[in-house]
Amino acid sequence: MPPRPKTLILPTTIHPSPEQIHDLQSMWSAVLTAQHAVTAFLHHRAAGGTATLLAVASSPSQPITASTAHLQLPTLAQLEAEFRVARDALGWSATVPASALRWMLAATLREWRAGGGAPALPRPWPRTRPPHLQLDHAVQLRDDVTLEIAGVGRELAVSADLFLPHTYWRALLRHQHRRNEAHRAHLERLEARWLDQADATAAAELFARRARSARRGTLPDPGREVAGAPIARERVAIRHVDGDGLPPRWIAEWAFGTSELALRKWIHDDVLGLDLGYRHPFAAVSSHHTILVPRPFHGEFRPPALTDRRPWVGRLELARARALHRRSLFLRLLPIYEAQLELALNHRVVALEAMAWAGFARRHLAFADYAQAVGLTNWVEWLGELAPQHGVQVLTVPPEYTSRTCSRCGHIGKRPRSGRPFHCAQCGHVKAADVNAAAVIRARGQRLLGTR
Ligand SMILES: [Zn+2]
Repeated sequence: MPPRPKTLILPTTIHPSPEQIHDLQSMWSAVLTAQHAVTAFLHHRAAGGTATLLAVASSPSQPITASTAHLQLPTLAQLEAEFRVARDALGWSATVPASALRWMLAATLREWRAGGGAPALPRPWPRTRPPHLQLDHAVQLRDDVTLEIAGVGRELAVSADLFLPHTYWRALLRHQHRRNEAHRAHLERLEARWLDQADATAAAELFARRARSARRGTLPDPGREVAGAPIARERVAIRHVDGDGLPPRWIAEWAFGTSELALRKWIHDDVLGLDLGYRHPFAAVSSHHTILVPRPFHGEFRPPALTDRRPWVGRLELARARALHRRSLFLRLLPIYEAQLELALNHRVVALEAMAWAGFARRHLAFADYAQAVGLTNWVEWLGELAPQHGVQVLTVPPEYTSRTCSRCGHIGKRPRSGRPFHCAQCGHVKAADVNAAAVIRARGQRLLGTR
């Protein structure tokens, strides 16, 4: 039997407008309302009740009195059947795609199974829980930097930083092209039914679909299908992320299937020390490598302000222009990202500083903004997702004084001035500052492993 393809989840940041955030939040609010009804229903069942989900959802004032004594959980199929009735009667699916509700049902049932027999049965999800909308095929690419979230109410075209490794981006494009081809074939069939068979329903559907697809953008050519390349799955989640030190943000999570074959194991039984930075996006040190990669562009990474002098640029166009601006920087860096990712995945262990993103913001340093704008934070996420698949261990080491410590003798001196090499006052060691930092990070990784 061939090995099952593995699933990788790669996130990209999206930039919804305030109105779009409102729409996403109302979707989430509808999911929570449905989730509370399902939880009340499960509590009712756990207490030995026999009412339907619709009955429980329609009278939410029923007290929750549950005991594990009667705990007989329905199967997912049974729960889905109950849910469909309540969903249609109460209009839940009018505001949120079916896939988001299906995900909620499965997740809720999982929590109950995990908590089965525990003294306290699961409570409803708190209203403060960050949104997680499983939107699957309702999310599509419109062009290089635009996502379309369709399926519910008004259409949402959201600017996104579609920062993905090349092969995964291609996989997404190929998937989208296949969808578009199927869409085109469907339109042709509708047209034939309208013109050849005088089918008025087909004419109406064709008319509506043509009106919608007129707004579609153009996608880049996905290129030839390559054997062993990852496959995009129609499993997309939109989530709100907060609390990792970076500014709160919305992300789209893309699921890809990857064959075991493509995920070969590491080859160097060694620790790679990596220092990420502004002047040099990467400095990498292992026993065989010393690599210092300069930033492949000059100047300011922030887009020029357009709003003051160009009032005709609308808010959505501006968001799109900014996303294209970030994409240009990302594409300059992409070959470097891929080479460094490959280098990292070739080592048994990769040591990185624990990224104190909040610290940069506190010290009014632009590095966190920069790292987000050009995709360096995404690169760290790629590594985190791909490393386990390649059998690679990622170590985060304490970040204190990495740029002030001598990688040869361990002496802590002064931080070298920007652009100047590290110079040890104790042993005289002189090294490019970022390479010295990468070597210190590597040594800390080795200490964590107990190999030194
Ligand atoms: Zn020294």
